[in-house]
Amino acid sequence: MSKLQPVRGTHDLLPDRARAFRRVADTARTVAGRYGYHEMATPIFEFSEVFKRTLGDTSDIVTKEMYTFSDRSGAEVTLRPEGTAGVARAVISGGLAQHMPLKYFYAGPMFRYERPQKGRLRQFHQIGVELLGVAEPLGDVEVIALGAAILQELGVAGQTTLELNTLGNAGSREAYRGVLVDYLEARRDELSEDSVSRLGRNPLRVLDSKDPGDRAVVAEAPLLSDSLDAESAEFFASVRAGLDRLGIAYTLNPRLVRGLDYYCHTAFEFTTDALGAQGAVIAGGRYDGLVAQMGGPETAGIGWAGGIERLSMLADEPAPPPRPIALVPIGPEAEVETLAIADRLRRAGLVVELGYRGNLKRRLSRADRLNARAAVLVGEDELARDVATVRDLDSGEQEEIALSALAGRLAAFS
Ligand code: ATP
Ligand code: MG
Repeated sequence: MSKLQPVRGTHDLLPDRARAFRRVADTARTVAGRYGYHEMATPIFEFSEVFKRTLGDTSDIVTKEMYTFSDRSGAEVTLRPEGTAGVARAVISGGLAQHMPLKYFYAGPMFRYERPQKGRLRQFHQIGVELLGVAEPLGDVEVIALGAAILQELGVAGQTTLELNTLGNAGSREAYRGVLVDYLEARRDELSEDSVSRLGRNPLRVLDSKDPGDRAVVAEAPLLSDSLDAESAEFFASVRAGLDRLGIAYTLNPRLVRGLDYYCHTAFEFTTDALGAQGAVIAGGRYDGLVAQMGGPETAGIGWAGGIERLSMLADEPAPPPRPIALVPIGPEAEVETLAIADRLRRAGLVVELGYRGNLKRRLSRADRLNARAAVLVGEDELARDVATVRDLDSGEQEEIALSALAGRLAAFS
């Protein structure tokens, strides 16, 4: 029988990586909390309809990337490819829309059937925020500023650039759509199959195609900014004024789009060139029509999602875990007593490692391998006097400490 392998595009998170991931999520959660965004979690799978309705049936995710299966009752369910759809579903099914504005943070695994490569996996992890019920440009500014603050706190702000665009309101997009389709139709022969099939349904998606042929055509396409009406231009000016006031630098990227009808106004990405082709670390935008599209009330919304894999590759190594105290019983009688001492020390908050077997030498060399800060040697004659020997493993110095004072003395080592 062949050996069992992890599924392609999935990774085990061994402790070092788990710690790096947790640092990203914990930092993001803490900073989001300061902005009044609190954590929520939706199920890892939903009825497929939740994603089909929100992502649209021409998106890459829905056409090629979803992990969809029938459960035992025949219901068609999908492992979530992203977080916003589930949050919007929760807002509707939980009747939360009456408590606007809603401000949520989430972190967790997402699933997409993609071609695995560095920074692109089939099970990956995202942090994200959603702000619902705020139609004002201040909401856009806050959400972007929150992303920037998290990047700052992670120490990666210097490696990222904020790219910004506006899709305008529905009228502006409608006007642009006409101009764009005329242009693309004229160069139809040069477009990829995917783009041709999008032409009729959501031509804006062609603008962010990664196909080189499409890109050449797109490079000369008319700009959406030339189709903006006064209201849309004013909205965008307010967003930019807010970012300017906060000193958040950005570059305008007129090709940055999201193709679905409910996306409007602000679209943005924090990108890096430190990770090769996988440049986007945080991506987001305004999605005012999404909740209504799912059958809920008309609700403004804006948010972003960031890739934990990519963010943790940019960020510094997190602090190492605390160095443990190694307990070393000498002789069989001492062994069970050491258990009780370890238990007391752990309850006092210390990190304690217990050798499970071996003589003094072997246990001390294990303490070294664990990078222990100190060893507590517990022999029978010491136990008889209610003391233990504490050895500082960095300096080699030793002292005898009363068992009752042990936790206090060892605290000085951590
Ligand atoms: P890309 O253009 O890289 O495919 P996307 O537009 O599909 O990204 P979003 O759906 O906006 O990405 O997801 C937000 C963020 O999640 C991305 O910016 C990225 O950091 C991360 N991400 C998306 N897909 C993956 C993946 N397969 N593996 C790892 N991280 C991912
Ligand atoms: Mg993608």
